[in-house]
Amino acid sequence: MSEEKKAEEGFPRFERVLVVSAHPDDPDFSAAGTLARLVEEGAQVTIVICTDGSEGGEDPTVPDAELSRQRYEEQCAASAELGIRDVVFLGHPDGRLEHSIEFRKEITALIRRHRPELVVTHVPSINIEAPIGSYHPDHLAVGAATLAAVYPAARNPRAFRELLAEGLEAWRVKEVWIPTWNQGDFFVDIGSVVDKKVAALRAHESQVKNWENWEEGFRKRMREIGEKAGYEYAEGFKRIKI
Ligand SMILES: [Zn+2]
Repeated sequence: MSEEKKAEEGFPRFERVLVVSAHPDDPDFSAAGTLARLVEEGAQVTIVICTDGSEGGEDPTVPDAELSRQRYEEQCAASAELGIRDVVFLGHPDGRLEHSIEFRKEITALIRRHRPELVVTHVPSINIEAPIGSYHPDHLAVGAATLAAVYPAARNPRAFRELLAEGLEAWRVKEVWIPTWNQGDFFVDIGSVVDKKVAALRAHESQVKNWENWEEGFRKRMREIGEKAGYEYAEGFKRIKI
C-alpha cells in the first residue's frame, strides 16, 4: 500500500464536532467509540440531546421530571467517560418530535452557534432491515431536521434571516456521519477505545438492565461491524461529504 493511500485512509481530524441525537443514550449506543477517537484527535465535541427522555422506561408511575433528571445525569456521566463535557439538552417531550420548520430552525441555530465541520446524527428514513429501535420516530425527526439544517439552512444566509440578528452567521458543515445498522460505507476502528464505549453505555443505568448479557451483545455487534472493515471492533457510518 502506498503512503498516499494510507494518508487517504487515515482517521480524519476535525476541530469541532456537533452530535445531534434524540434521546439520552443514543450517542453512546451508536457512536461512543468514534466520539472518543475524535476527542483523542483533538476535536471539541458537543452533544445535543433533543428530547427529555421521559418515555425511556417501563414504569408509568415515575414522574417525567424525575426520569428526565436521571437520564440527563446519566448522559453527562457517559459523555465524561469519552472526555466530552459539553452536553446540551433541548428538553422537547420524548416521543413527540416532529420535523417542523421551528425544530429545523432550532438545529440551524445550534449549527451556526457551534460551527462544526462534522455533524453526527440519526438516519432520517426507515430501514426496515434494521432493528426497530433504529427508526424510532424521534430519531427520524432528528435525522431529517438536522440534514435539512445542514443543507441548506445553516449555510444559506437567506434562510431563517432572523438568526442573523442574533449574530448567527451562515456556516458550512463539511461532513455528516450517520450511524447505520448494516449499510455503512465508512468504518471507524474503535479497538483502542472499546472500554470507553462500554463505560459510557454502562452509565445509562436506567436503560441497561442485566448488564452482563448486554455487554456481550454490544461487543459481539461491534466485532461483527469490525469484520466488515478488518478491525477487531468498529462502528459503521454513512459518510456524507458536502
Ligand atoms: Zn433513541
